[in-house]
Amino acid sequence: MKAIGVDLGGHKIAAAFVEDGLILDRLSEQTEIREPEAVLEKISLLARSLGAGEDCPVGVGIPGMLDAGRNISLQLPNFPGWSGLPVKKILSSKIGSRVEIENDANCHALGEGWQGAAVGMTDFILFTLGTGIGGGIVVNGRILRGYHGMAGEPGHLVVGTAEPCGCGSFGHLEGISGADALERQAVAMGLQPDLKYLWSKRDDPEVAPLWNRGLDYMAKGIASAVHLFDPQAVILGGGLSRGEGFLDLLRPRVNDYLAPPFRKVFDLRISLLGNDAATIGAAALTRLQRPEGA
Ligand SMILES: [Zn+2]
Repeated sequence: MKAIGVDLGGHKIAAAFVEDGLILDRLSEQTEIREPEAVLEKISLLARSLGAGEDCPVGVGIPGMLDAGRNISLQLPNFPGWSGLPVKKILSSKIGSRVEIENDANCHALGEGWQGAAVGMTDFILFTLGTGIGGGIVVNGRILRGYHGMAGEPGHLVVGTAEPCGCGSFGHLEGISGADALERQAVAMGLQPDLKYLWSKRDDPEVAPLWNRGLDYMAKGIASAVHLFDPQAVILGGGLSRGEGFLDLLRPRVNDYLAPPFRKVFDLRISLLGNDAATIGAAALTRLQRPEGA
């Protein structure tokens, strides 16, 4: 099975030719202009350069909310002009092949399930700990989409009280433990907002409170998700999760918030695919969906 997987990011459009779950070729372009016309043209060129066509379908990870049928983009917070756009239709006519679209963090989850840290699992939750906090929930081997198509947003789990969130609401996990939020707190504490550096200094008395608070809320969010979905594992992706010893610091905090029966089976893992998860997962979309009319 061969397919093209595309991950549309704020800085880069990454595309890969994927055969039987392995990346055999890859191309990328900077996302300088985020208007739909320019971006869709770049995606189409990348996909065609990698061999998209009648026998090589294309899956695209989109950083935002999509309609329940996965045809139209509803809101891409960092990309203006995409609301209400029939992305799937436009791309399939531009590229001349079958195209499937899905939320980018859901693609990441599918990638981990196909070739990464969740291989063989039917039920798992992915948290992407980056600038914001995204996620994907897989139940019975399928991405949980919800009635309106908006399910699987662990970054907006309500864990706090008054902290503003980028979504326009408040008290959400991302607004406390996302990288942007941690950087803001670092500045407020008189620290330099460099999270890599601050992680290396996490035991210093002036830095420790920043991580204690961030990890505490992260643990609350993860424990809440575990109680709701009883997954086989929680997978962590994104830049923050790559900090040395991150899992060792987070795991006991999650355990503290778990009801005892969940503690015995709790499995917390780091993403195995890293930056390739979303493109591999986007390619996986084409094997989950049937061609139209089939
Ligand atoms: Zn929010």
